[in-house]
Amino acid sequence: MRRKLAAGNWKMNGTGAALAELEALAAAHPDPGCDIVICPPATLIHRASTATRGTAIAIGGQDCHAAASGAHTGDISAEMLSDAGATHVILGHSERRADHGETDEDVRAKARHAIDSGLTAIICVGESLAEREAANTLDIIGGQLAGSVPDLVTGETLVIAYEPIWAIGTGLTPTADQIGEVHAFIRARLERRFGAGVGRSVRILYGGSVKPSNAAEIFAVPDVDGALVGGASLHACDFSPIVSALE
Ligand code: PEP
Repeated sequence: MRRKLAAGNWKMNGTGAALAELEALAAAHPDPGCDIVICPPATLIHRASTATRGTAIAIGGQDCHAAASGAHTGDISAEMLSDAGATHVILGHSERRADHGETDEDVRAKARHAIDSGLTAIICVGESLAEREAANTLDIIGGQLAGSVPDLVTGETLVIAYEPIWAIGTGLTPTADQIGEVHAFIRARLERRFGAGVGRSVRILYGGSVKPSNAAEIFAVPDVDGALVGGASLHACDFSPIVSALE
């Protein structure tokens, strides 16, 4: 039985004042019926992990380098995230792939390093609108999974987030059938590659314009094990009902 996961991606939003949102979220869910991970900007990870100590909220990074240390100005390694209190890291988000030219190979190397450093890797895959309209969605997702997911993973160390690029921050969402088709496909690919045991234990999140008003409908889709939420994770008053819809 996979435990559901509500993950928040704050992207490049939040200064110290935003920590109050974490405190409010923790207070609203002292003993949640699902896992909760918030991924604030790197500058807040240490303070966020301190602020949530003893609560059910885990903290994650939004990216990491594939190397442990070295001459990589501006980058952060998985060890550094872990040292700052993170237990998870988002990798291969479409904004990283677009803004920083990250390839599947890059994502795979980062994920390998993150997992070997003790973090859970939340690897994002998703098609563009043009790819969906050309009926290439499953080919694209299959290629991203094969290229971005490293070998030797478990249900503890890997989470997949299906995030159609055209649904991120747009208010658009796929239909329940479209989400279900992709999640079933991802599940089948995971089982084929890693075997039924591991393949069935990896959680598959949906991401893209999840909000309180559509969360329950999305979470009712088979093989949706939770959500990766951007905009609606910034404020506890929005994220808390999404968490509740998962519990
Ligand atoms: C995201 O960036 O991972 C995301 C899903 O954003 P939003 O929820 O704002 O669409």
